[in-house]
Amino acid sequence: MICKIQVVTIGEDGRNETREITSIQRTDVKPETLGLTLAEGKMILKDLQQIVVESQVSSLLLPKRTCPDCGEPRCSKGNHTLSVRTVFGQLTVRSPRLHHCICRPHETKTFSPLAELLPNHTLPELLFLETKWASLMSYGMNIETLARRAADRRAGQYFHHSPARRRCSGALGARNGR
Ligand SMILES: [Zn+2]
Repeated sequence: MICKIQVVTIGEDGRNETREITSIQRTDVKPETLGLTLAEGKMILKDLQQIVVESQVSSLLLPKRTCPDCGEPRCSKGNHTLSVRTVFGQLTVRSPRLHHCICRPHETKTFSPLAELLPNHTLPELLFLETKWASLMSYGMNIETLARRAADRRAGQYFHHSPARRRCSGALGARNGR
């Protein structure tokens, strides 16, 4: 059995574009081959994310190709690639650099609409999750440190100059704003 997964994108003008993202092939039914694996699920989501992001970026860039003041087309200075970090993995997106129109003065000669939209190259949902994970990890590390120090005191040992203590002190200091 081959299960093809396709994504149909319908543009603002009503045009359809169909892209195949992957195929799942199975020859037998066993507990380990039933359904999708975690790796296949991740791959499908990443491919789907790439298509959704590319479609949205195309919609963003289309009106930027003309000057909003006089309606003249803006000249392209070329393209570069932009890495975008998302919850489903890191994507690479084509990012054009455009010349500003000369109908009025600008602070710079060129600009990149996508770089302006994503100055951190990271989507907010991933940033939120990373911050949350970091706070949880610090808490866990602090608990572990306190438990170890209590155990060391009981044993009459201290680890003043150990790498573990330095890491803990740094983490606690950062948390307390020191
Ligand atoms: Zn203009």
